[in-house]
This record gives sequence, C-alpha cells and structure tokens, in this order.
Amino acid sequence: MYPWLSKTFLQLSERIAGKKLHHAILVQGPSGLGKTKFVLNLAELLLCANPQLDKTCGTCQSCRLNAASTHPDLHQVESEKQIGVDLIRDAIKKLVGSAQMSGVKVLIIHHADTMTESSANALLKTLEEPTSSTFILLTTAKPERILPTIKSRCEKLILPSPDFNTSINWVRTQYAGAIDPQFAKLFAARPLALLDELQQEQKFTFELFKQGIVELTSGHKSATSLAIEWQEHTDKVIKWSQFWVREQVSLVNNHTVVVNLYAVEKKATKISQQLRNPGVNKILQLAGLLTAISLIPSY
Ligand SMILES: [Zn+2]
Repeated sequence: MYPWLSKTFLQLSERIAGKKLHHAILVQGPSGLGKTKFVLNLAELLLCANPQLDKTCGTCQSCRLNAASTHPDLHQVESEKQIGVDLIRDAIKKLVGSAQMSGVKVLIIHHADTMTESSANALLKTLEEPTSSTFILLTTAKPERILPTIKSRCEKLILPSPDFNTSINWVRTQYAGAIDPQFAKLFAARPLALLDELQQEQKFTFELFKQGIVELTSGHKSATSLAIEWQEHTDKVIKWSQFWVREQVSLVNNHTVVVNLYAVEKKATKISQQLRNPGVNKILQLAGLLTAISLIPSY
C-alpha cells in the first residue's frame, strides 16, 4: 500500500477483522492519489481466506485467483465515458446468489460519478438491501457529482493526501530523473499524477520550457521562433505556461506583474479551447501566448 494510505488501510482492515465494515463505501480523493489500488487491495483483503490484519495471505485460492485477476467473486465496473444502466444491471446480477469462493462478494465501481442517473437509481436498491456478504466499493474524484441518494447509503471515506516529503520520497523510489521542486509542489498532493507527469515529460521538460521563457523575456528569442520550436508540444506548452504563472505569482508581490501573469493564464486556457477546433494555426496561437508572456514587465 502507498505510505500515505497505509494508516487508513490498516484502520479498515481492523474493521474487517472485527466484522464491522460497512457494506458500501464511497472512497473519495483526487485523481493520482491511489484510490484504484486502495480499493483493489481492500477487495483482495475481503476475499482472502486467511488475512493477517492488513495483509493478505498470498497463498489461499482467493489470493491466487486475485493475483491472476480472475477471482469469480470480484466484479468491477468502469467506463471511459459514462457508466450506463446496463453495466450496473449486469454487475448487480452477478451479486445475486452465493459467492463461489470464500463467501464474500465484492463489487468495485470505479469513477462512480460517471454513473448516469438511471445507473445510480438501478444501484440504489442493492445499496439499501445488499445481498448477504456483499461489499460495494465506489471511487470518485468528483463526489459533488454523485446523487445524494447514493451518498446517503454509503459510508464516506475521504483518503488523506500525503505531505510534500512523503509524496516526493515515494516518487523518488519510482523515478530516477531530476525533479524540479516547484513543479513537484504542484502535484505533491497527487503522487501518482506527479510520477505520470515526470515520466511523460522526458522529451520536453519543464526545465526546457523555463529556459525558453528566459530566452524569450531576455530578447534572445522571438515568440514566433519559440512557437515554431514548440509546435509539437502545444498541450504541454499551455499546461506549463499555467504552471509557470502560478510559480511566478508565488514569487512576486508586484500587483501589476501579478495581473499580467493571470492574464497569461487566462489566455492559455482560451487557447487550449481554441486548439480543439480543427484547422486552427498552432504556431499563431502559441506565438500569441508567448508574446503575452514576453510583455510581462520585468521584476
Ligand atoms: Zn489469501
């Protein structure tokens, strides 16, 4: 288990051991915190025949089936876009009847906020009158989008965010490259998201972006030439412009500069929307953004 979630996991495992776990739990936290692994490990613990508090035995038949991702009593629902009512009805059908293995059945609904209203309504009855020995684990990064009727039937579990050091220490065990501390701060509360960003940024790094901005603001490079150089990384340039703005805002206390910085952030958001339209000239859009950055008064 991730170090920042291990205490919460241990508390739940104590309740499992005491047979005091609520049958429906809504696990909340931002994306990149580790909710998926958390509920999967919880499901494996519930299904294990010989758990040792917060550890599965690893050797019982349930554990072996889970290791192969083929446990017949573990069901999962997730969808790229929306969880439609058919998916929920299929899942509920699988919960009817007795468990095939250790006596417990688990249903995980990932991104439960993507359930349609009819999906949520289809699930209500099962949440109200659960079939015996059934646990339903729901995850969400957007609890405000979940119907109150669903929420009121679940125990709410808000996963804790790690502090900066816990987060960065864990990322360092997974990633050998250099980590910009300012960049890391933006993601510190979501270590998996930070790791993902670091792994994806290999080619066009935040460091490289910042160097380009220095060349731009010192007049060594024009906005257009940078835009041509960076045209293959438009999404990243936009995102990093926004990060850069926030980083700068935390460093300056000149009101005019801050106003200009926020104007750049706003422009970046606008450009990211415009770039979704086909046929938009990327270089022109990027050059517009970079020009706005170059016009920020020096500080
Ligand atoms: Zn086991």
